[in-house]
Amino acid sequence: MSETTLVLIKPGAVDRGLIGEVVRRIEARGLRLAGLKLIQPERATVEEHYAEHKGKPFYDGICTSLSTAPIVAMAVKGENAVLAIRTMMGATKPVEAAPGTVRGDLGLTIEDNVCHSAATSDDAQRELGIWFPEGLL
Ligand code: ADP
Ligand code: MG
Repeated sequence: MSETTLVLIKPGAVDRGLIGEVVRRIEARGLRLAGLKLIQPERATVEEHYAEHKGKPFYDGICTSLSTAPIVAMAVKGENAVLAIRTMMGATKPVEAAPGTVRGDLGLTIEDNVCHSAATSDDAQRELGIWFPEGLL
């Protein structure tokens, strides 16, 4: 089943020059881009994106981090794209992420864990609406 998911390249990875490496891995896997933009989002956009984490100790920090420097938002399309991307990204804590995953290869701390990706198809639909209200190619 072909589906589309949402990936964000977080500010630390953009700053470290890893946009190309992340995109390369996604394309090499056989997935395709349906949307791609470099943006510095409004805080309200990030707060809506991370609404499920509202009230948690790290919520303020991630909302500040993602709205004070450039990030990349991508729509990624392909067979089982949601699960394929989540598996490629690896565990939330990079030290626990398997080698070969994006976080396991390119990250070290939870504050700089390279990427966000939607966890479920429903989340992907919701998040794509937030980051690509103009629609996708
Ligand atoms: P994931 O990004 O793997 O879906 P979560 O949805 O649990 O992980 O958390 C969202 C993001 O919030 C994480 O990617 C990470 O950047 C940050 N985060 C989660 N838990 C913590 C924590 N305990 N301390 C600091 N930041 C955290
Ligand atoms: Mg999550």
